[in-house]
Amino acid sequence: MALQEFVFPEQGVAPEVIDRDLGAFAMDDVRAHWSRCFRAPADVQDVARRAYNRFLSDNGLFTARVEGMQRIETELTNMCLALFSPPAGAWATVTSGGSESIYSALHAMREWARARRPGLGEPEVLATNTTHPAFSRGCHYFGLKLVRVPVGADLRADPSALARAVTPNTVGIVGSAPCWPYGLYDPIDALGRLAEQHDLWLHVDACVGGYLAPFLERLGEHVPPWDFRVPAVRSISADLHKLGYCLKPISTILWRAEDLRVHHLVQPSDWVSGAYKMSGFAGSRTMGPIYAAWAVMRYLGADGYCRLARRVLDACAALSRGIASIDGLYVLKNDSLPLTFGATTLDLARVQGGLSARGWIMVSCAQPPLINLPVDAATDERVIETFLSDLRSVCDEVRTGVATEAAVLKY
Ligand SMILES: *Cc1c(COP(=O)(O)O)cnc(C)c1O
Repeated sequence: MALQEFVFPEQGVAPEVIDRDLGAFAMDDVRAHWSRCFRAPADVQDVARRAYNRFLSDNGLFTARVEGMQRIETELTNMCLALFSPPAGAWATVTSGGSESIYSALHAMREWARARRPGLGEPEVLATNTTHPAFSRGCHYFGLKLVRVPVGADLRADPSALARAVTPNTVGIVGSAPCWPYGLYDPIDALGRLAEQHDLWLHVDACVGGYLAPFLERLGEHVPPWDFRVPAVRSISADLHKLGYCLKPISTILWRAEDLRVHHLVQPSDWVSGAYKMSGFAGSRTMGPIYAAWAVMRYLGADGYCRLARRVLDACAALSRGIASIDGLYVLKNDSLPLTFGATTLDLARVQGGLSARGWIMVSCAQPPLINLPVDAATDERVIETFLSDLRSVCDEVRTGVATEAAVLKY
């Protein structure tokens, strides 16, 4: 069934017809893998789906009135907070994704700064050129000026360059733990000292790494200091729907203290129906992802998350070995995900073009040209072998001039 433009179906059809028609949209499960950013192993997904379906129709708009909704959210956010060395009085809020978590932090940062600095001009937020674009969007929405300072030679935030960019209007700094393009941690402790010196709000964007780092640490891997153990950190964004293995859309924004979160609350009482008490940006929302996230955390526990973290390490090792063995490619040395590789003698845009031609949906970085692999615990043998085999033949084609189609390096 090909819908023409602006044609609404006159009659409904049977569910079987719908199922059949939807089959046309299914992606190649293996070659769509990297575009899932990120996916849970099948058993975890099953647990999540059952909880999701059961509570799909429950509307979180009523959280303030339904005891069970409040309880599930509190139990979930308490589990989340427990992972990040929370000080007493820390608070977390569930959001619809990393972008919303970031908007929440920026909004609170602005309100906090306005409250303590009357007469503040256009507020400025310091970040780097590796800071996620959700900060550019958020700053645009909230009338903040995002000042991006290039990272240093080690590709991490450069604290002295950031210090030079502080102005009387600077209200906050953003550090990544780690940044998406290179999988590197910014020196959060040094950014913390800078924040303390100038009375700035330090936000740590741990969207990709937040729910992996605690378990890597338990496995004895080195993780640079990044969470509430760094005293200047006021807020953290961490995505449950990435390496927390929960079903999209769900993320968390974690606040060092409840009075910081309060800056983000906008709860009007100026309409005829009375008070409107939402904790985030959303109005009506499905409770499905929240119950599912609770179910996933209970199902996995720390030992389950450690098992999945180990799988990620093993998959990264296998992929790195395979990529490094291909003439003309190199693997970027980083602290965490995504696994990232570039080219020494090959044209990386053509490598990406060749992979796209084979059906892979790739994520990449333009400066410098790199390809990112969002490895997760569902990155199994089949994905690894198919990818490496396709990559080897694509590189052969690029080397011999057969593959000439270049992909534009972008999302
Ligand atoms: C994914 C990601 C985000 C944005 O999260 P969404 O869930 O896609 O909105 C922000 N920062 C980093 C470092 C990320 O990896």
